[in-house]
Amino acid sequence: MAEADIALIGLAVMGQNLILNMNDHGFVVCAFNRTVSKVDDFLANEAKGTKVIGAHSLQEMVSKLKKPRRVILLVKAGSAVDDFINKLVPLLETGDIIIDGGNSEYRDTTRRCKELQAKGILFVGSGVSGGEEGARYGPSLMPGGAKEAWPHIKTIFQSIAAKVGSGEPCCDWVGDEGAGHFVKMVHNGIEYGDMQLICEAYHLMKDVVGMEHDEMAKVFQEWNKTELDSFLIEITANILKFKDSDGKFLLPKIRDSAGQKGTGKWTAISALEYGVPVTLIGEAVFARCLSSLKEERVQASRLLAGPRLPQFSGDKKAFLEDIRKALYASKIISYAQGFMLLRQAAREFGWTLNYGAIALMWRGGCIIRSVFLGKIKDAFDRNPDLQNLLLDDFFKTAVENCQDSWRRVISTGVQIGIPMPCFTTALSFYDGYRHEVLPANLIQRLKAAVHYTVGCLCQEVEEDKDVQFSKQ
Ligand code: NAP
Repeated sequence: MAEADIALIGLAVMGQNLILNMNDHGFVVCAFNRTVSKVDDFLANEAKGTKVIGAHSLQEMVSKLKKPRRVILLVKAGSAVDDFINKLVPLLETGDIIIDGGNSEYRDTTRRCKELQAKGILFVGSGVSGGEEGARYGPSLMPGGAKEAWPHIKTIFQSIAAKVGSGEPCCDWVGDEGAGHFVKMVHNGIEYGDMQLICEAYHLMKDVVGMEHDEMAKVFQEWNKTELDSFLIEITANILKFKDSDGKFLLPKIRDSAGQKGTGKWTAISALEYGVPVTLIGEAVFARCLSSLKEERVQASRLLAGPRLPQFSGDKKAFLEDIRKALYASKIISYAQGFMLLRQAAREFGWTLNYGAIALMWRGGCIIRSVFLGKIKDAFDRNPDLQNLLLDDFFKTAVENCQDSWRRVISTGVQIGIPMPCFTTALSFYDGYRHEVLPANLIQRLKAAVHYTVGCLCQEVEEDKDVQFSKQ
């Protein structure tokens, strides 16, 4: 009997929690998994006492679905998604909907949209953010793809999504093809940037000001009452004050070596590909790469000298406020750059993106959730065609109010020898963006001169955008 509103394939942590969330909101969900025994385990344990039903084959799952059939995949990104799509298509009818909620690469989503459109199936690629907790109690959802699917999934998606303000859901239609997964990718890149900015503030407090972990925790707690109010600042305070079973702070015992793979790196690669200066996320990825060279760094620390300057002797309270403002200004730059990348992708692919709606989708439920995203939404509400966040009055004034502090922090850190890749790249971007004239005229002449010299040696004709020359 067709009794289920939707099916979900993939009973790992995300899938199980999303099913329970849908169940809480009154939807009947049919669960399925590649390893079929997990269906019975789930029904007997986590889903016990709920309206969730299960299936032991895809055929059985499809037979239990109301039409148009809606199937969410929450499986490992990559070939597992294609395998399930290939198995599902013969069982589905025109107008049925497949939704991929995993961290798929946006180009894969675009390809799948096109392939399935040719078969009459509506394909949606949806970013899902907020991890396990978000999936269970309200994620940020970023759906894109075949827009005809939206009216059929909107109620379910917006019911289970996180809510902000007066109950506004952190979920709206993003755009065509892989737009949903592109937006999720940029979200994850911004998350890399936010984390690195917090780490730079922590480094300055610890090694320049010489603060203890509980004292730093209190500062982050205070910062969470300011413009920086956000999930990541909140959990940083909790992490800093957490003590191990021996009564000592846990954080200094954790190896200072962070991995990087997946969507942070993809964001930086896309930025290079589309020629958008998303420098802060790029630096955040590279900062992780540098951190992972632990053995080399240990060796270098014994060989390479830093500046011979006295330790910080300024006004501690004033410097902490400077760090807070440096963090806030850098964060504004990071989001401005992220939205520049979204705008360029929209141009490249002909997507119509609603930037205010994207800010609202990230406002709650996800890892980068913050009060600040509400300000970004307001900026795009004031001007949906806003070319750059920095040109909005609110953000323009905010950066202007922070810039003296920002410059002081960077000067102090540079003189003492503290690495601050994201604070500094953010300031360089700001200074570059606000300069009417940059020294790229010299690059142009250098390029021409090099091409001319090479041209004397080359026969083959090669084309540069600006200079034509012959190569031998
Ligand atoms: P996961 O560990 O990424 O994937 C496990 C699920 O994928 C299981 O159901 C597994 O089935 C299935 N699977 C793996 N390889 C398969 C294959 N070759 N063919 C068919 N099925 C296969 O699970 P997850 O952490 O819950 O994440 C699900 C998706 O959400 C992923 O794309 C992930 O990147 C994304 N995501 C995760 C988080 C998070 O916080 N974990 C947050 C946002 C998005 P078996 O049980 O049979 O092995």
